[in-house]
Formats: sequence, C-alpha cells, structure tokens
Amino acid sequence: LRNYSTDKKVHINIGTIGHVDHGKTTLTAAMTKVLQKDGLSEFVAYDQIDKAPEEKARGITINASHIGYSTIKRHYAHTDCPGHADFIKNMISGASQMDGAILVVAADDGEMPQTREHLLLAKQVGIKKIVVFINKADIVDQESLELVELEIRELLDTFGFDSEAPVIYGSALSALNGQDGEYSENSIRKLLNTIDNYIPDPQRDLNSPFWIPIDNAFSVTGRGTVVVGTIIRGVIKKNDECELLGFDSRRKTTVGDIQVFKKSIPQAAAGDHVGVLLRGVKLNSVDRGMQLVAKGSIKYTNRFKANIYFLTREEGGRSKPILSRYSQQLFSNTWNVPCRLDLEKGIEMLLPGEHGPVNLTLQWKMPMINSQPFTIRENNITVATGIITESLE
Ligand code: GDP
Ligand code: MG
Repeated sequence: LRNYSTDKKVHINIGTIGHVDHGKTTLTAAMTKVLQKDGLSEFVAYDQIDKAPEEKARGITINASHIGYSTIKRHYAHTDCPGHADFIKNMISGASQMDGAILVVAADDGEMPQTREHLLLAKQVGIKKIVVFINKADIVDQESLELVELEIRELLDTFGFDSEAPVIYGSALSALNGQDGEYSENSIRKLLNTIDNYIPDPQRDLNSPFWIPIDNAFSVTGRGTVVVGTIIRGVIKKNDECELLGFDSRRKTTVGDIQVFKKSIPQAAAGDHVGVLLRGVKLNSVDRGMQLVAKGSIKYTNRFKANIYFLTREEGGRSKPILSRYSQQLFSNTWNVPCRLDLEKGIEMLLPGEHGPVNLTLQWKMPMINSQPFTIRENNITVATGIITESLE
C-alpha cells in the first residue's frame, strides 16, 4: 500500500449523489476494490461505508462516510451519505465542500425525485463538475441505457451543468462481486480515469473581483486606516477602487498600500492574508464584519433567497414549527445581524428536520453572494443552517 502522506498528489473532495437505492454505496465500495488491485487503496466493504459514523457539523448530526483513496494521479476524499436527509444536511451545512460529484442513476429507474434534488443542491453549493454513472447496466438492455443517458443530459442542462459531461455505463454490483464483462471492473476503471481528467484540480479563484472579509482594523499614525483579512477571491492591486460594505454603510475608497508580513507589495491574491491601507477612511467607520470588495462587484442588498434546513429537537434545534415572519439572528462569515425569515408562497410552515426555500430580510444591507453558507441561532443555539441562492433588489 502506498503511503498517502509522502506522495505529492493533489487532494480532491468528491462524493456520490443520486436517488436512494440507485447504487451510490455499492459504487463507492467497488471503486476501492478496483483501486486495491492496483495497490492504490484499501478495500472498504459496503457495510463499513453504510454504517457511517455520526459527524457533527455546525451543531447538526450528519451520518456520512469519508473514504480516502488514491488513483495514479490524485488523492481523493470521497463522501457517501447513507440517507437522503444526510445528503441534504451535508450539502446545506457545507460540511464537506466537494470539488466535483459522481451522479449515480440506476438504469432501470432513470431520473427520480432525489436525482433532481441532489443536482439542484449541488448547483446551489457551487459544484461545477458532474460525472454521471448509469448503474445497474447488468439488468437492462442497451436501448434503456441510451434513453436514460438522454434524459440525464437534458437534466444536467436544466440545472446549468455541462450537458456534454462524461456518462459511463456500468454495474457497481458486478464489479464488487468480481464478475466478468464490460460493465464490471472495466466500467469502474473508466469512471476513475474520468474523474481524474474531467474534474479539474481545485484552484484559487483569481478571476472574480476581489473580496476580503475584514477580521481587524487599526490606524497608522500619519498614514490612515489599515484593514486586515484573508482574500477569499480575486487579485487586489495598489490604487484599485474599492468599497467598504456592511451594516447598511457603503464607503468608496482606494487601495493606498498592501502589506504582507509588514512588507509593502504591489498586489496580492486569493489565499493571501493582507493588511490594506485605505485612503480617506477613519478607523471609527470600520467595523469587524464589514467586507472590502472591488468597486461595484457585489449586489448590495438586505434581501435574499436561501435554502434552509431546520435542526430537529434531537439535533439541538427547535421543537416548534417555523412560520413566516420568524425573526432571529443570522450568522455568516465574520458577522451576525437580526433577520426576518418568510416562507415561500404555498408553504405554510417548515417543521424541524425539514428543508426548503425561504426569503430573508436582514436588518441591514450586507454583502453576500450565492452559495454563501449561514446559520440562524436562537439564544446562541444553532437552530438552522442554510445557503444563499439569490440576491434580491
Ligand atoms: P444507495 O442507496 O444509492 O447507496 O444504493 P446501494 O448501493 O445501497 O444499492 C441499492 C441496491 O441496489 C442494493 O441492493 C444493491 O445491491 C443494488 N445494486 C447496486 N448496484 C447494482 C448493480 O450494478 N446492479 C444490480 N443489479 N443491483 C445493484
Ligand atoms: Mg447508500
């Protein structure tokens, strides 16, 4: 067995998504079985994956297995959730942010409700690449496989994914049982090759306009105010025009200087922890929780659409249902503000343990973008977790 820690392979997070019983867990086991043959991974049996240990993420209990394996090219951490509810919670809480996903579709069933729901959530949390595995090829004819492929390509398109994404026919069970035939081990090898090549190495986002959540601020005598934070996307340069946003305030300014480890540098990029000297900004107009963004790059509003999950009583959440006009404190990033939550038309209430679309109205405008995770707390107890899906006027 190879020693993962000493090789220099890139690390990727992926996972199996798709309707219950379509073969996600069987496929995960089959992948490790094939990789074991090559001395790249340890075989993880179906039962070991399916009795996933409980994990705590932002106060929610999620059952999810994280399986580690290596291909020739990369190292993977693979998330497989036993139940639909676990999948929802895993995605909405951002418990394990995936770089790509394998959509498993059973050829005898085709597209099913959870196939759609998982694709929608994958889109909302910002997953860009989907590889499709049409499973149970051992029990259907060629024509059925091709029909399911057409149906799924259309579905990918509907949800804004690449409709030319790779689609592989196979049988996870045949591979796991070591049977012969093209839909057995061969299909798993095809899948492994495909994820190696189709899902790109994770990259820092250097192309989007820059965005720095502010952790800290101080003033330098004779020079002005310096804000400190880690750049989460983009590139910032000296003299860039920018805006300091948060808590309804909007202050236009320019970048006077950028410092890393007390050294002045002409530009910095996503991942860098920097101090930024802002021209003409007083220290008392900067609050922790404000964000420094490229001028005009973010829709600045207090109204958002979101997808939210309410924790059950057992998970430490509420016991009573949530109705419209529910008001509590919303936490995200480095800030928290009072927030009112209204249910979508046609939805009367959400019960603890349920998830659904909601409208949020914050007390103040705050800079937020799609896929941004947040929690809602009542008296410092997390009762809900969600992701932003749209900024409204
Ligand atoms: P999950 O709910 O998506 O994780 O699905 P499982 O992996 O638990 O599989 C559900 C059922 O489908 C089990 O009884 C598996 O043995 C069966 N199954 C999985 N893959 C295949 C396959 O390729 N062919 C056939 N015939 N059955 C399969
Ligand atoms: Mg399963």
